[in-house]
Amino acid sequence: MTERTFSIIKPDATRRNLTGAVNAVIEGAGLRIVAQRRIKLTEAQAKKFYEVHAERPFYGELVSQMTAEPVVVQVLEGPNAVAAYREVMGATNPEQAAEGTIRKQFALSIGENSVHGSDSLENAGIEIAQFFTDDQIVG
Ligand code: GDP
Repeated sequence: MTERTFSIIKPDATRRNLTGAVNAVIEGAGLRIVAQRRIKLTEAQAKKFYEVHAERPFYGELVSQMTAEPVVVQVLEGPNAVAAYREVMGATNPEQAAEGTIRKQFALSIGENSVHGSDSLENAGIEIAQFFTDDQIVG
């Protein structure tokens, strides 16, 4: 089934000029970038986005890392896009990520792991709506 998922190219990747390299992996995996914008997340946006992790010990570090430099927010479209992108991203901890995945190739650490991707279709819808209106997504 054709799905849409939400992606963020994180500050560790934009800082190292890897936006195009990450996008090449995304497109190489057959996912289409149907919306994309470079922004600087505010603290309020980052806190809200990672609200589920608010009680975790790394929450403060995560919010400060996500707001330190610009990010690229994206909507990706394709067959089973949610699961397909999770596979292309690789494991959260880059040491456990499979060969060829974005995190294996580019991530610096579990915190600075280059990309975010929605973990379910429901969350994809919620996350997309936080950053894009329907008319900004052109499939
Ligand atoms: P994801 O869905 O693979 O991104 O992983 P999670 O939803 O579990 O975590 C969200 C994000 O929080 C991760 O992508 C990391 O950037 C960060 N994170 C998760 N676990 C840790 C950790 O143990 N330490 C640090 N510093 N950051 C973490």
